[in-house]
Amino acid sequence: MAQPSDILVIGAGAAGLFAATWAGRTAAAAGRSLSITALDSARKLGAKVLVAGGGRCNVTHERVAEADYAGSTPPAIRKVLRRFSAADTVAFFEAAGVALKTEETGKLFPVSDSARTVLDALLREAVGAGTRIVHPARVTAIEQTAEGFHVTTEAGPFTARRVILASGGQSLPKSGSDGSGFRLAASLGHTLSSPIVPALVPLALPAGHWITGLAGLTLPTEVTLRSGTGKRLFATTGSTLCTHVGLSGPAILDVSRHWLVGRVADPHLTLNLNWLPGECLESLDRLLVAGQRRGAVATLRERLTDRLARTLCEQAAAAPAGDLARDARRRLAALATATPLSITGDRGFTVAEATAGGVPLAEIRLDTMESRVCPGLFLAGEVLDVDGRIGGFNFQWAWASGFVAGSAATRAAAQPATGRAADGDAAASMASTS
Ligand SMILES: Cc1cc2nc3c(=O)[nH]c(=O)nc-3n(C[C@H](O)[C@H](O)[C@H](O)COP(=O)(O)OP(=O)(O)OC[C@H]3O[C@@H](n4cnc5c(N)ncnc54)[C@H](O)[C@@H]3O)c2cc1C
Repeated sequence: MAQPSDILVIGAGAAGLFAATWAGRTAAAAGRSLSITALDSARKLGAKVLVAGGGRCNVTHERVAEADYAGSTPPAIRKVLRRFSAADTVAFFEAAGVALKTEETGKLFPVSDSARTVLDALLREAVGAGTRIVHPARVTAIEQTAEGFHVTTEAGPFTARRVILASGGQSLPKSGSDGSGFRLAASLGHTLSSPIVPALVPLALPAGHWITGLAGLTLPTEVTLRSGTGKRLFATTGSTLCTHVGLSGPAILDVSRHWLVGRVADPHLTLNLNWLPGECLESLDRLLVAGQRRGAVATLRERLTDRLARTLCEQAAAAPAGDLARDARRRLAALATATPLSITGDRGFTVAEATAGGVPLAEIRLDTMESRVCPGLFLAGEVLDVDGRIGGFNFQWAWASGFVAGSAATRAAAQPATGRAADGDAAASMASTS
């Protein structure tokens, strides 16, 4: 016998718990009582929240804009983000007993420096708003019926008038986000963007590449992605970590999805790394000329480690000390400011922090997050084709889209299954006063 609910949330991660909370709060504000059930395949809830930000959970960023994201179009992403701002996130967690602090980088973390406090607050708020959380209950199929939806799970069948799909992407599959949500969305008529690839993922270099010999080195760099024709597609400045298999660190993680998506259409993409951000071939050449008497390593060592300075000289076949011939000097300047990275691949979804690709926002009504192809279905979080850069942007997307979906699904639950959700003005004003 199927268990009935007014609203079923598939996935009790960041977006699902937030959507369930706002569904319950919106119903309560309207003086209505709705049954809200969140289903999750995981035995232990909230694995991703707990590992986020190295166990501290980078909840949001002080400045959030559509430019911090990729995937669907910037205007579509902006439309959702503006419904629930970083300030709304701070207010939500503050009211839930989790004070946040802003670090120098602009990232916001709980004052406790513990992701556990964030997860506990999310669970407390969802349950407090009337959500019943059922887990482990992996959803294996979903069908639209005359009354709403029939959902098959490994814990038995469920029915609901409205469904919020917040099943995440494919990164860290052992957390429960194994990409099955994409198949559920597709089974209800949605398309998926192509390709779906890891985002915020370390990149691999050929075995034995000289950069892998620098494993453990972390330093500020500038990374530039260009098309085969030389057009600059993406550039970022940030920390890079050399690893025994390639490269990691924020700058590499941020560029990874652009490289992985871009190379599908353009196999001649190039990725270059400038070990001396702010310098170019000509400016470094001038510095090397000025430091000619001290030698190349001594000049480079002013900003780089001795090991890296010597490795660059070796790779450019440039003498580390003494006079450098013009050709060797310019080879060294070119290598230090634009090392070509012969990326062989990525470290995969098991290591990635996010997923690039998913259900395109073009298939979603952005004022409600209701599906345009399957009325009564709402979507939130990483299952959508939106991924943010390092810095708390992925959670902010989960909060904003979860807020819109949860509050709109509640209003829609009062309407027939084929009806459209009303716009979100009432919920928006609730968020800004919460
Ligand atoms: C190591 C790591 C560190 C990160 N650090 C940060 C950070 O500091 N800041 C930041 O902004 N972002 C960070 N992220 C990204 C962030 O965690 C995600 O973008 C965010 O959790 C997405 O929220 P979501 O609710 O859409 O998906 P998820 O958090 O993945 O939740 C989806 C839920 O759905 C459940 N589910 C999936 N399929 C089914 C199914 N078929 N049936 C039932 N349940 C299902 C899963 O078990 C899961 O609980 C990090 C990610 C990783 C992997």
